[in-house]
Amino acid sequence: MRVPFFDLGRLVEEQRAEIDAAVGAVLAGGCFILGPQLRRFESELGAALLGKAGSGQVVGCNSGTDAIALSLLALGIGAGDEVITVSHTAVPTASAIRSVGATPVYLDIKEDTWLMDPRCLEAALTLRTRAVVPVHLYGNPAEVLLIAEQLARLGRTDVAVVEDAAQAQGASAAGAMVGTVGRFGAFSFYPTKNCGALGDGGAVFARSEADAERVRELRHYGQKDRGLPRHPRALNSRLDELQAAILTVRLGKVSEWNARKARMVQRYRSELGDLPVRFQTVSERCEPAWHLCVMEVESGQVRDRLLRHLERDGVQALVHYPSPNHLGQVGACSLPVTEALSPRILSLPMNAGLREDEQAQVIDSVRRFHGR
Ligand SMILES: *Cc1c(COP(=O)(O)O)cnc(C)c1O
Repeated sequence: MRVPFFDLGRLVEEQRAEIDAAVGAVLAGGCFILGPQLRRFESELGAALLGKAGSGQVVGCNSGTDAIALSLLALGIGAGDEVITVSHTAVPTASAIRSVGATPVYLDIKEDTWLMDPRCLEAALTLRTRAVVPVHLYGNPAEVLLIAEQLARLGRTDVAVVEDAAQAQGASAAGAMVGTVGRFGAFSFYPTKNCGALGDGGAVFARSEADAERVRELRHYGQKDRGLPRHPRALNSRLDELQAAILTVRLGKVSEWNARKARMVQRYRSELGDLPVRFQTVSERCEPAWHLCVMEVESGQVRDRLLRHLERDGVQALVHYPSPNHLGQVGACSLPVTEALSPRILSLPMNAGLREDEQAQVIDSVRRFHGR
């Protein structure tokens, strides 16, 4: 039997009738951009992120990449500015920073959580630093509060925290949903993400009304109420009505899907726990929302042999990500933990559509590779 990494069609089938109805309603309504479906989705996602406490608003946009870029633009960040992030992340974290003209500055990660190491922050801050973008990688909450506290302690109120929550919708830290703790939070609805659209989509969470309003203008030519543009570097980056209607349907399943994935990751960890492999550590008081199940093995050679072994067994495993972002930058710094981890990781099939017998086949294949 072939085990696909992610068969997206299965999650569509789970909600096929509701998706068809939602699409039908948009077609019948005849409004396709900036209409009632978007307003409804923004308000429902806002409620899901905030619960009863806290304040803030969701602004839909075209992608997770744009959600980061729009947040940086709203902060007035551009050429000559530095934005601190991690190298061990998906390419779009860095692309978004570069797209506004800023320079990404990469921090190393912690050996156990594989997330931004706050101990490296102080040394990386310069007078040009304008933002820090921690990434909740694979759905594991990064230490955003600690990073914000450190910036405050150093008197750097001019440095904003923009959370890259693209992989972590539904995760929480100390009771707060990730993406709602920094000044901005960026979400992605890329089809494989925790809440996947059937196309591209993204959203910015802004804690203040003024920030949300600036993002709303920036996603729509820099315009407010058809007036003259108020921002020279605005984009066209909207979440269209079809995707918004579909996402409202998908949103209803995110908790259930996240819970299903949590059980799956638990099973991998327990049934592979006696092998020489390692998984990401979760920090105290954090509730992850797994987007990927990434496993570390002893060496790059073992990783590559295991990938070939799985392939022969019909199991599709992938690598997230094959090369750290800082290696593509001129004058690359050295990030020992990132560079040691990157060749040793692979992602096992893990998604809300994966069946138990398929997971059993993956586990069996990994165990046989280790002679068990
Ligand atoms: C997916 C992703 C993005 C970008 O999202 P898109 O919607 O594909 O633009 C940004 N950062 C991380 C960590 C991601 O995984």
